[in-house]
Amino acid sequence: MEAKYQIKKITVNSEIQELQISWADGHHSRYPLEGLRRACPCVFCQGGHEKMGAPVNPEIFLEVSDRNRSITRIQQVGNYAIQIFWNDGHNTGIYRYEKLRSMCPVENGVI
Ligand SMILES: [Zn+2]
Repeated sequence: MEAKYQIKKITVNSEIQELQISWADGHHSRYPLEGLRRACPCVFCQGGHEKMGAPVNPEIFLEVSDRNRSITRIQQVGNYAIQIFWNDGHNTGIYRYEKLRSMCPVENGVI
């Protein structure tokens, strides 16, 4: 897989409500947790099978909420995705590396 889609390091910074990813090509992504939760790729959050795989609008990362989002666990899935366990009990979202990279709000100029 291209370095662009390989993860070197993942950190969750609860204080500033961000998940941060360092990619093998040197890019550093920052994902505000509210948007990342709303971008959950699972069939339930996407609203049905026919809507699966649609590209995420990076403006989702501008959404604000007074809810305190946090991630309780991140589990690696094969070598292509991570499964995120949220503090609201939701954990069925499998976030593929390619998808994460393509929605990166830094690269898309949103934040
Ligand atoms: Zn979901």
